[in-house]
Amino acid sequence: MRSTLAGPRVLLRRLREVMAEPINAQERLDKIVVLIAANVVAEVCSVYILRADGVLELYATEGLNRDAVHKTSLKVGEGLVGLIAADARPLNLPNAQAHPAFAYRPETGEEAYNSFLGVPILRAGRTLGVLVVQNQSHRTYFEDEVEALQTTAMVIAEMVAAGELEAIVQQGTKLDLSRPMHFQGVALSDGVGLGHVVLHEPRVVVTNLIAEDAAAELERLERSINRLRISLDDLLNSGDFAQHGEHREVLEAYRMFAHDRGWIRKIEEAINNGLTAEAAVEKVQSDTRARMMRQTDPYLRERLHDLDDLAHRLIRELMGRQHGPVSESLPQDAVIVARNMGAAELLDYGRDRIRAIALEEGGPTSHVTIVARALGIAAVGLAENLVSLAESGDAVIVDGESGQIHLRPASDIENAYAEKVRFRARRQAQYRRLRNKPSITRDGVEVSLQLNAGLLVDLPAVSESGASGVGLFRTELQFMVASAFPRMSEQKDYYRQVLDAAGGRPVTFRTLDIGGDKVLPYLRAIQEENPAMGWRAIRFGLDRPGILRTQIRALLHAAAGRDLKIMFPMVTDVSEFHQAKAVLEREIKHLRRHGHQVPERMQLGVMIEVPSLLYQLDELFQAVDFASVGSNDLFQFFSAVDRGNTRVAGRFDTMSPAFLRALKHIVDKADSYRTPVTLCGEIAGRPLEAMALAALGYRSLSMSASALGPVKAMVRSLDLARLSARFLPRLDQPGGTGQLREFLRGFAQDNDTAL
Ligand code: PEP
Ligand code: MG
Repeated sequence: MRSTLAGPRVLLRRLREVMAEPINAQERLDKIVVLIAANVVAEVCSVYILRADGVLELYATEGLNRDAVHKTSLKVGEGLVGLIAADARPLNLPNAQAHPAFAYRPETGEEAYNSFLGVPILRAGRTLGVLVVQNQSHRTYFEDEVEALQTTAMVIAEMVAAGELEAIVQQGTKLDLSRPMHFQGVALSDGVGLGHVVLHEPRVVVTNLIAEDAAAELERLERSINRLRISLDDLLNSGDFAQHGEHREVLEAYRMFAHDRGWIRKIEEAINNGLTAEAAVEKVQSDTRARMMRQTDPYLRERLHDLDDLAHRLIRELMGRQHGPVSESLPQDAVIVARNMGAAELLDYGRDRIRAIALEEGGPTSHVTIVARALGIAAVGLAENLVSLAESGDAVIVDGESGQIHLRPASDIENAYAEKVRFRARRQAQYRRLRNKPSITRDGVEVSLQLNAGLLVDLPAVSESGASGVGLFRTELQFMVASAFPRMSEQKDYYRQVLDAAGGRPVTFRTLDIGGDKVLPYLRAIQEENPAMGWRAIRFGLDRPGILRTQIRALLHAAAGRDLKIMFPMVTDVSEFHQAKAVLEREIKHLRRHGHQVPERMQLGVMIEVPSLLYQLDELFQAVDFASVGSNDLFQFFSAVDRGNTRVAGRFDTMSPAFLRALKHIVDKADSYRTPVTLCGEIAGRPLEAMALAALGYRSLSMSASALGPVKAMVRSLDLARLSARFLPRLDQPGGTGQLREFLRGFAQDNDTAL
């Protein structure tokens, strides 16, 4: 015989009335437990809330001893209640006391009860507490009773999330929702940012949980799912996704979920229990999240992201909201939290109010990272589950030096970081004082320091940082942040501004390095198995001479009457340089013929970033006016390690004898031909690595603006002859990776070289 008196819908309707009553939080919880007990025909109903110290505290009860409220507590993992919180799964037991995890609490008087049903109180997959009903009889609760209790738990979760329970929190304790959390991610952009969370894709807050008319809700669900399926089909059938590739796979996974009967049935069940369609989607997603967050299989965890996205799309569809980032006013100290974001989206926020960005994905050389570095915004990536655990407005610290994120930090952490920020500010002030000092070692060798740039926001740094010029101007960034292909005149204006800002210092423009992973939103992306080794950079430029010619023409116009330095990326064979040079010469001829002024002096160079060039250095250095080592790509291809893949990107050390021998070979050859060579990859901007490069013979390094100060401090405190004498012989010795790095560190310490 079923013992349920009234269906869950009646219970939810009564709950809604209770939620609307002008009573305080404790009174509301007390009423809720009475209601639930009556509805499930249970002698006991209790609510345990998870505190920040990992303890579940009894907050309300019907049936147990009321004096135990706010006194009885269990740790997560302790007793049946603790077990439910730990596993985030319901427990349905006819004889609770026989369960090995049962923990007896004499003050509650629960010895009289045998059957036990407990469900986690979940929000976005996170456990906030536990809701329990108990009966004297030995009974197993029905599936729909479990479902009803879970639905009710959702209402309590909203009370917790809305901060209602804060009023009854005992002195000296905090609820788990405000528990400090720590994430170890990967440092993407240096700096420390203290501020408040702004969710890049704000969660749609479902406030209307309870529905009167299930049939109407089911109909709404069906309509929205249909719309969702159609929009996914449209996307998949549109030309953009016609090929195979990762985007297509993700969309196909979405479509699979959108047709998954099991998923839809669970949502329908929740609606039948009295939830609105959007609350039902949220409930099912929260349950799924709780289960899947405990999975260790990376494939399944990745699918969780897909499912999360799909659920959010469906909720938005149901609530008639558009998909997209926030544009409303930002706090003064915004920390943008996102799964991932594009470079253009970051620029859309504007620099002024952003203290940091924190991503669940993001690679060290992804575009958003490059832009964050250019803007001087601290950034951390690979912070797992951050988006679902952060609430908008939470205090947060992003440490772009160590890759740590502190969400809702405790006051001692906050104080320590405030001190760190002050320390960094003092150090920056010291670096600023070095700005106009020459970049010369203690023993009188000049190591010229230049800037890597690519955006208009970089330009003030050209004169402010004390750089001797721009060693690498990544022209593709202008193209990446534009919404349409920049016209020749726009490119020309842009380059002219760059030259003006440089105020006579040399600027090395690199022609477009697009293709591969550097996708232009307005240019049809072609899907490639290995984009980094695909149709990119100069390969693309030579096959699409119109684009290359337009860019070269813009550069020639912009530098009319001045000096112009151009270099070509990803050259694999010296003949490619000759072909590119021929394009340029034709352009010059064309301009002259039409009476245009051309640059006063032209220098042409290449990036050395494909290992094959190492075996063509003689031809190369006879052909070019200069070269620049792109150590990011050179190391990627040299070691066969994808620079954007965090699983392997850190696997091999750039300070290994093998790679350093290659770098030395380049600089030695360049010197023998008296061809100037610069190194412009990320290692140039790290003091320890830059020290090694100087020892190898590099006299020109190009780096991001924030690295100039630290590297100059290193150069000015370096005894280069002494270092070279000790360091170079070590390159020829057999030795494990890490030894050279250790040697460099030791040398710096013993010789007062600032690292
Ligand atoms: C490099 O590859 O080292 C480089 C500087 O170019 P990018 O990082 O733009 O590929
Ligand atoms: Mg490169």
